[in-house]
Amino acid sequence: MREDFPGEKSIDAPANDRAGSRSADPPVLLSVRNIVKRYGSAVAVNDICLDIREGELLTMLGPSGSGKTTLLMMLAGFVAPTEGEMLFEGANVAPLPPEKRNFGMVFQGYALFPHLSVFDNVAFPLRVRRQPKHVVREKVLSALKLVHMEPFAGRMPKALSGGQQQRVALARAIVFDPKVLLLDEPLGALDRQLRASLQDELKALHRRLGTTFVCVTHDQEEAMSMSDRVVVMREGRIVQIGEPAAIYSRPQTRFVANFLGESNVLGAPVVASDGGRSVIELAGGRFPVGGATTEPGEACLSVRPEHISIEYDPPDREAGEIALEGHVRDVTFVGADYRVHLDTEAGPVIARCRTSEQTRIPGAGDQVWAKCRASAVWRVIND
Ligand code: ADP
Ligand code: MG
Repeated sequence: MREDFPGEKSIDAPANDRAGSRSADPPVLLSVRNIVKRYGSAVAVNDICLDIREGELLTMLGPSGSGKTTLLMMLAGFVAPTEGEMLFEGANVAPLPPEKRNFGMVFQGYALFPHLSVFDNVAFPLRVRRQPKHVVREKVLSALKLVHMEPFAGRMPKALSGGQQQRVALARAIVFDPKVLLLDEPLGALDRQLRASLQDELKALHRRLGTTFVCVTHDQEEAMSMSDRVVVMREGRIVQIGEPAAIYSRPQTRFVANFLGESNVLGAPVVASDGGRSVIELAGGRFPVGGATTEPGEACLSVRPEHISIEYDPPDREAGEIALEGHVRDVTFVGADYRVHLDTEAGPVIARCRTSEQTRIPGAGDQVWAKCRASAVWRVIND
């Protein structure tokens, strides 16, 4: 699995030079180089470098205000960068207005034209491009078919549900075969169930078209389920880039560990380093753990709740197993899992136990052992 971290990205490698590349990554289509956007003294986007590869579905994920929309707006051409360059197929597009970039867009508040039918909404980008009538018809119907809205061609937008309107907006964005599709919280206004089904549809559409999708969301589940790569943003900067599974299992910082799913963050002293791993002291044992750094001092450790099991018998302290003594504070049933809140010798810990696997359901007050393998403990930068 390949992953990029800020500071060690291949931004200096020429986009089309594949000869020296070990991995089979597609070529870079859009390259963001040291982009800064300032509003007065406030910095919305702070020196971002990012290579977007041909055909990938890349998601920018971060909390509200982290600069996602501003970055996307700069890609689209609606916002001019204060500093930096943006290369599309090797040429600087930073000075070009949106219509010259030819990117498809599905933006928050970039709604359908209310006075135009579904067909005419989707036809709009083609008519602007002065396409012949028969081409318009063919392309509109094929785009509507892709989003399963062909039967609604004659409807007006107000006669459609929110999910249907978003599908039409998608059709309008892809109808002119753009090389890049930019999507800002495209499912943001929809309810949870509809979101999930449209996430699947968006992913299927991406696979089918092979177009480069750049998506923005603040929803980590959405980012992880849809994307080839996720860019985690915070305060105008990129904090980590990588495949969803890699970011989830190997977060660089405490922020990333907490933002992508739930994480237990524990502290433990580092007593040695061992072949790129920190040896930590925890629960009466010494364990080598992987992670972002091997600096001496106090380690900040992340453990996912699903890697913690709850046991009633004392552990046999076999090598590689960490057992924290504690008691159950609270148990929440969440369908497929129980979330168990524990107070342990290392502090509060949350465990997630599969309902189907746990023979004895923990109850508040139980004296237990929270166990995990040292390989499930990951050292992060405390930031
Ligand atoms: P996100 O999409 O991640 O929520 P935004 O890109 O919308 O974040 O905003 C990033 C920061 O830039 C925020 O602090 C926001 O207030 C600020 N900002 C965005 N647009 C403007 C603007 N037009 N004028 C002033 N500040 C702005
Ligand atoms: Mg936004």
